[in-house]
Amino acid sequence: MPTRVQTDPIKVRRILRIIFSQSRPPVARCRLLSSGMGPAHMLKVDEEIVGSKACLGCGNCMDACPLLAREPQRRLRSDVRSSMALETLVAEDCDRCGNCALACPQVDPTIKHYLVQTHLAEGMAELLARAGTEEIYALDLMLSLN
Ligand code: SF4
Ligand code: SF4
Repeated sequence: MPTRVQTDPIKVRRILRIIFSQSRPPVARCRLLSSGMGPAHMLKVDEEIVGSKACLGCGNCMDACPLLAREPQRRLRSDVRSSMALETLVAEDCDRCGNCALACPQVDPTIKHYLVQTHLAEGMAELLARAGTEEIYALDLMLSLN
C-alpha cells in the first residue's frame, strides 16, 4: 500500500507523457515518481521499506509483460525478477502497453489511474479506429493461430 499522500499525476504530467511515449519499460521511472510503500503494507520482509521507492524484486512487472509472454526464451537470459531485469530483457522492443506499471505494488494508484485514463484510452481509441482494416484481420488471424 503506498503512503496516504500519493503523487499528483497532474504535477508530473509532462514527464509521464514522455515516459509513456517511449518504447522502453516504464515501470522503474513510474516507481521513482511514486510515494513508495506506506506503513500499513502487508509484505513480510526484513528491511524497512516504508516510503521506499525501491524495486522489491517481486517480478510482477515481468509476469504482466506481453512481450515476455510471447517470447519466453527472453526470460532465460536472467534469473532475476526485477525492473532492472525487465529493462534488460525487453529494452526497446517494449509494446508500450503499460502493464508493468499497472502491476507494480510500488507505483502509486494515482499514476496507474492516469495511465488508464490517458495512455491506455488513447491506445484503445487507436485500435477501434483501425477496426475493420486488414491490420485487424491480421491480428485476429494471428490470435486464432495461437
Ligand atoms: S509490460 Fe508492456 S510496457 Fe511494460 S515492458 Fe512489457 S511491453 Fe513494455
Ligand atoms: S513489479 Fe515488483 S519487480 Fe517489478 S518494478 Fe515493481 S517492485 Fe520491482
